[in-house]
Amino acid sequence: MTAASICYDRIGELVTCVPELGDGSPLGVRTDAAVVVEDGVVVWVGDAGRAPATDHRVEVGPRCVLPGFVDSHSHVVFGGDRSAEFAARMAGEPYEAGGIRSTMAATRAADTAQLAERATALVQEMRRQGTGVVEIKSGYGGDVDTERRCLEVAAGLTEETTYLGAHVVPAAFDGDVDAYVSLVTGGMLEVCAPLARWVDVFVEEGAFDADQAREVLTAGMAVGLGARVHANQLRYGPGVQLACELGAASADHCTHLTREDVHALADAGTVATLVPGADFSTRSPVYPDARALIDAGATVAVATDCNPGTSFTTSMPFAIALAVRECGLTPSEAVWAATRGGAVALRRHDVGHLGVGAAAWLTVLDAPNHLHLAYRPGVPLAGPLAPPDA
Ligand SMILES: [Zn+2]
Repeated sequence: MTAASICYDRIGELVTCVPELGDGSPLGVRTDAAVVVEDGVVVWVGDAGRAPATDHRVEVGPRCVLPGFVDSHSHVVFGGDRSAEFAARMAGEPYEAGGIRSTMAATRAADTAQLAERATALVQEMRRQGTGVVEIKSGYGGDVDTERRCLEVAAGLTEETTYLGAHVVPAAFDGDVDAYVSLVTGGMLEVCAPLARWVDVFVEEGAFDADQAREVLTAGMAVGLGARVHANQLRYGPGVQLACELGAASADHCTHLTREDVHALADAGTVATLVPGADFSTRSPVYPDARALIDAGATVAVATDCNPGTSFTTSMPFAIALAVRECGLTPSEAVWAATRGGAVALRRHDVGHLGVGAAAWLTVLDAPNHLHLAYRPGVPLAGPLAPPDA
């Protein structure tokens, strides 16, 4: 072992998300366990007191250790504040996609340092609550320069950056969606693609229809970006089918799914990423039916959708609690969806689990087991045990 090796020993419950490392369940749970981390990578997992010699040893005790949450859907680069819009919605006004434009105006007015300061603070807030890897989208720029600035900020915080030029049509285009799609698939893509790993589009009435979305996604894929889609959030629609048709990594929201949509997700291997914080904050009358997705064989992830308009939470434990209470996941399924599921949605093999070779994002709960994440909603149980660079 080199000088950087640390043993986390006497862990009451270890959730590995590798079935064969634990009890054979998807969470791969083992009790009275130990993990050895070296240079930010998990190098050994086994029974307490049995680890090879290390330079440092931390006694964890009767608490739960699990992989850092993988928050595969966030919009933390933005300017402005929409608390008044939230209050109006709670007073009875409906949510429609156009509220995004008020954030666009505020984002353009902010300088890059202001955007970076806010986004950094939000990612730190995520980390304090046990999140490891986070995906961050652009989408509040609406012009080439601001989209580029937003992606530069995102790229300073994560490798999982997503170009969401096609969030809504900016007011300046006066409803000329095709002209804006030309920009998103042309000059804006050219500037933004080098800063992004993914391309995303909001398929919704008031945003982009299936044909426009297909143009956006195929243009991004043609320059090497992976596809993900905002799909079926506010009503039934073509987003999920389009995501599956194009082999997107993930279809996000999935609040309104037909039986055909559910089976398409299962067949295509496109992850259904549920963001119940958005359904909560828009007071959606329905939540995604995670039970139907799992029963059909689809892969389910859970994320925060942290954004100023419709889900201003950085808390993966909150998303887990909602996924259990409102979407029909069991507590164990929700924890998997928030860790390994998020990793699958980002096509990452090195995070979302604690097998040998994984990046050592270790989250610890002030609780004896992972069930407490859903069982004790609103209680700050989760925090970082050690980031990989500790
Ligand atoms: Zn979103």
